[in-house]
Amino acid sequence: MPKVTIAQNILAVNENIAQDIHQSLTARGIRALNVMSSPGAGKTTLLERTIERLRGQLTIGVIEGDVETSADAERIEAAGAETVQINTRGACHLEAHMIRDALTQIELADIDLLVIENIGNLVCPAAWELGEDARIVVVSTTEGDDKPAKYPQMFAISQVMVVNKLDLLPYVDYDLHKVKRQALAINPNLRIFEVSCRTGEGLDAWCDWLIAFTRGA
Ligand code: MG
Ligand code: ZN
Repeated sequence: MPKVTIAQNILAVNENIAQDIHQSLTARGIRALNVMSSPGAGKTTLLERTIERLRGQLTIGVIEGDVETSADAERIEAAGAETVQINTRGACHLEAHMIRDALTQIELADIDLLVIENIGNLVCPAAWELGEDARIVVVSTTEGDDKPAKYPQMFAISQVMVVNKLDLLPYVDYDLHKVKRQALAINPNLRIFEVSCRTGEGLDAWCDWLIAFTRGA
């Protein structure tokens, strides 16, 4: 059997599990996000700030994907969300069966929104559905401003792009207009938020969108 066919079969199995996850979350009235980025763009910090701001409005459960360590899960728990850590021990993306297993450790009756923080990687996470309702790609001003052009698939399959570390814009050679132009050329429907998790700039608009999304808007 050619290798391509095997890879397609594995992805088809993954998609079936992802559909089961999506159905069971939807039946419980839970919405789910798959948050992706390269390493260091600020996924965990964005989640911390979001959880703190939405306390009392939304109950968020988090699945933290990392190659090693539980450091990020500890940060998210401290911010006030129930968290399960997945360590992939070398694997560069999360797969739906990992989410299915992690969900058995979360009190689903308590949560409105499930946030899955994927492994820091702009390539293969784009190919693996996890049962989410929406995919979020986070980029930051300390990365190159050619990310959408270099990793188009990630921007094509995402519904939302968050540009983080806006406070550092005066100090870096980052052409924000170019990034937005490239991203929208790939995906004209992409919703864009510009934020600084450090200063709080833009987080109100992001949180408003998240509340509306969670309530099914
Ligand atoms: Mg993280
Ligand atoms: Zn991978």
